[in-house]
Amino acid sequence: MNSAAPKQKPDLLSLFPEELCSLAKTFGQPSYRGDQIFSWLCRGVPPAEMNNLPTSFRKILESECEFRLPEIELKLVSKLDGTIKYLFRLIDGECIESVLMQYKHGNTLCISSQVGCNMGCAFCASTIGGKVRDLLPSEMIGQVIAAQKDSGMRISNIVMMGIGEPLDNYDNTLKFLRLVNHPEGLNIGYRHISLSSCGLVDKIYKLAEENLPITLSVSLHATDNKIRSSIMPVNRKWDIHALMRACAFYFEKTGRRISFEYTLLPGKNDRAEDADALASLLHRYMKPEGAPLHVNLIPVNVVAECGIASGTRAAAEAFAKVLEKRGISATVRRRLGSDIHAACGQLRRQNKKKV
Ligand code: SAH
Repeated sequence: MNSAAPKQKPDLLSLFPEELCSLAKTFGQPSYRGDQIFSWLCRGVPPAEMNNLPTSFRKILESECEFRLPEIELKLVSKLDGTIKYLFRLIDGECIESVLMQYKHGNTLCISSQVGCNMGCAFCASTIGGKVRDLLPSEMIGQVIAAQKDSGMRISNIVMMGIGEPLDNYDNTLKFLRLVNHPEGLNIGYRHISLSSCGLVDKIYKLAEENLPITLSVSLHATDNKIRSSIMPVNRKWDIHALMRACAFYFEKTGRRISFEYTLLPGKNDRAEDADALASLLHRYMKPEGAPLHVNLIPVNVVAECGIASGTRAAAEAFAKVLEKRGISATVRRRLGSDIHAACGQLRRQNKKKV
């Protein structure tokens, strides 16, 4: 009886150059072939077309290794601001989303880290139906390579704010960050990368020790534990104070500014008193450390299934004024691509409903 599991093929896009070098050696090739492969991969070139490799070796790579970029299932371009939303199909037929936004400071790609999400936030489309699976590093970097290849635009910034909770897929996320930053590859600076988390406190402590100068974005959305627990189940495990202590630690370790995301939910967390309470909370935990911080106010994107009313920009601006009066810098997030369902998880849901 042969009970051995089928041997998994090496997943080329998930490998560092040094791992590709060892792989090349296992196929009897000189080590430097690994560096050549890495540089092709980052441009989205499949093994068959890596034309500085011997043909026989290309054939081996094709048959013995995995290489697959996410395929474009659907592409929507906003008539309002040129934002491009991709629905990508993965090898197992599951779909994820990425959004390419053009800002003055560069082209930013918002990427997904999981298929679905287990975090259960009450206002979020990505979590309906739970998590299907984690994405591999290759499937995260694949979104960047595929979007760059398709659009012809150089992506200079990445935000991990698409489908999924990146810190719930910690090891793959970390490998992705190191791969996308690699100077011989896409070379995207850590300072140009933001990772957004709903607040997995144990992982925030861990991330603080990794010595990666990325920007941490924390989805706070409320200053009162009762309200936060009612909209974000993660708060029942790690409450606001545990989260804020972790944020203060993150700053202390990395010296990096933390960005707080605050989605305005009409009647729940958007009154002037709420803004005041937010300012007090941030002062209490972050300011004694002198920590630079920023609040991103997000007018909620209505998700039909969630039964949450939409807010106005005026309410968001009034909220921002209260924060600024108290010395907290805040901006109201511009709504890019509102005509193409650019908010996280909406397109995947829509596509699922069709089938
Ligand atoms: N899991 C991570 C990253 C993905 S969500 C996190 O929770 O941070 C990215 C941001 O969009 C989060 O701040 C999330 O709370 C917010 N968000 C999700 N659904 C939204 C909606 N319908 N309207 C406005 N913001 C939303």
